[in-house]
Amino acid sequence: MSRRHWASAAAVVLASALVAPAQAAAEPTPQHADLGMAHLSDLYVATTTDGRELLRFSAMIVNVGSGPFEIVASRADQLSSFDVMQRISQSDGSTTDVPTDAELVYGGDGHDHWHVRDLENYELLRLDNGVKVGTGAKSGFCFFDTDPYELSLPGAPSDPVYSHETCGHLDSLDVSMGLSIGWGDEYPWNLPDQYIEITSVDNGKYRLRATADQGELFTEASESNNVTWVDIRLSRRGGKTSVKILDYGPDALSSGDDDGSGGDDGGGPGNGNGNGNDNGVGNGGTPPGHE
Ligand SMILES: [Zn+2]
Repeated sequence: MSRRHWASAAAVVLASALVAPAQAAAEPTPQHADLGMAHLSDLYVATTTDGRELLRFSAMIVNVGSGPFEIVASRADQLSSFDVMQRISQSDGSTTDVPTDAELVYGGDGHDHWHVRDLENYELLRLDNGVKVGTGAKSGFCFFDTDPYELSLPGAPSDPVYSHETCGHLDSLDVSMGLSIGWGDEYPWNLPDQYIEITSVDNGKYRLRATADQGELFTEASESNNVTWVDIRLSRRGGKTSVKILDYGPDALSSGDDDGSGGDDGGGPGNGNGNGNDNGVGNGGTPPGHE
């Protein structure tokens, strides 16, 4: 090596020695959320006063990632739509806001706050050929910590951090929502839109499937654990429609296809059959938390 090359190589080494440690310290790593679904529960068929049949169930979206799932949304005035950013936590405690294609829709009809459109999707599929025969009525979600799911996850807070209070009101210009590590946001079976209509669905075997962030609007650690399902048999006998649980699919923390709990009868919340009418009020009181 010539003297001249040696000198410049030495200069490079010196320069990187001076710069590298500072760069390493200034480069935080993102702590991504990871959305998934807990097992579906409380399945039963309700009949409305006008004779429609609703397959009701409870669903819970959960965060099993290494950071909170958080969105912040703002708009210039009440006539504008919201710009929705995902706020990603970094290892040094800072946050980074990333633009998303998510939309907020106002949930009138008793909710009176803002919802993220399509945070969860519910579908009913024929088990033999996968044909979709029903879609969940609920399409918007104000999410927050309602139930502990797996508090042994690193970084999971022992108490809820996020509440519904930041889901805003009709005139809000700033809205935010969050779901902590290890926490879930439960949508109980008796919420107004928490059902799939099955009035014209034949008796037989079906898969009730729930997917978190089906449209992949949000950044998360894994897109492979967003789906859960339960296989069921619908039968009508003596004027009564019943649902029997045949098998469970994975949930957010299991990659297998069975947890061995198939065969449960799933009689429904508080033996909810026979409640007669159903519009989500009066059976079992106020939902625990969420709307
Ligand atoms: Zn709501």
